[in-house]
Amino acid sequence: MKIQSVGVIGAGTMGNGIAQVCAVAGLEVVMLDINDAALERGLSQIGKSLDRLVKKETLSVANKEAALQRIRCSTSYGELKGLNLVIEAATENQAVKVKILHQVDEIVGNDTIIASNTSSISITQLAALDSNPARFIGMHFFNPPPMMALVEVIRGLQTSDATHAAIIEMAQRIGKEPITVKNSPGFVVNRILLPMINEAFFVLHEGLASPEDIDAGMKLGCNQPIGPLALADLIGLDTCLAVMEVYFESFSDSKYRPCPLLREMVAAGYLGRKTGRGVFIYE
Ligand code: NAD
Repeated sequence: MKIQSVGVIGAGTMGNGIAQVCAVAGLEVVMLDINDAALERGLSQIGKSLDRLVKKETLSVANKEAALQRIRCSTSYGELKGLNLVIEAATENQAVKVKILHQVDEIVGNDTIIASNTSSISITQLAALDSNPARFIGMHFFNPPPMMALVEVIRGLQTSDATHAAIIEMAQRIGKEPITVKNSPGFVVNRILLPMINEAFFVLHEGLASPEDIDAGMKLGCNQPIGPLALADLIGLDTCLAVMEVYFESFSDSKYRPCPLLREMVAAGYLGRKTGRGVFIYE
């Protein structure tokens, strides 16, 4: 099946970015959220993001207008009927997602593919809730979706080859570079990234180097655009800790134990940029 129409559930950080990418690539998009205010915020973000692309001359004014024309906003699940694909990109909360996916399952036809953009919930487990688990898949976009090339395509145990093939083709058509991953906590990128950040906290905790030198080392020695400690401040130390806790519990492996300093800083409320202080201090 060639995917030509997409429903995006959630108009937040990820949802509006995914809707934008799909609309710019020529797909018809329905963006759905719980109220008009959330949809207006999402649409306004898309407008600003498209304006930046026009300013950089990577998008023409005509193509910007055409992309906006292709996005329909709604608070009603009925609007999802008949779409080729629905991407769930709502709040990262299992109960919220389960409720949404039940509503989607009731509305869409059997040949609609359903994807979730979840960062941490098992795709196999979400697929098991669907009346047709073979059509369920993970599509993990990176933030911000219009700028980041990668999409992790996550196969649940039940995902069919046809579903996988349709999503890989669509991801490439909207300008992304998909990689295929088996369902597992953290998928691939975060599974590698978060333990690296946690290890940077261990290095700091052991007093091996200053925060500035740890980050400079990883930037200069590994060509990373941002050091792991500055990245932790950007992600949020609470989020980093929560993710490590999930790995530690899921794999029952001590290599994923969260660094005590990370725990201590979260307990102190030093959560990173969002609280003005994490490893570094922000004015
Ligand atoms: P967000 O908080 O910015 O947006 C979530 C949106 O979902 C909100 O607009 C909210 O109103 C809406 N929503 C909540 N319940 C809903 C419902 N029942 N029906 C419709 N809409 C509903 O969150 P986000 O950062 O965009 O994250 C969305 C998903 O993407 C999560 O699963 C998250 O794990 C994943 N993700 C986030 C990032 C990131 O960097 N933020 C990166 C990759 C994946």
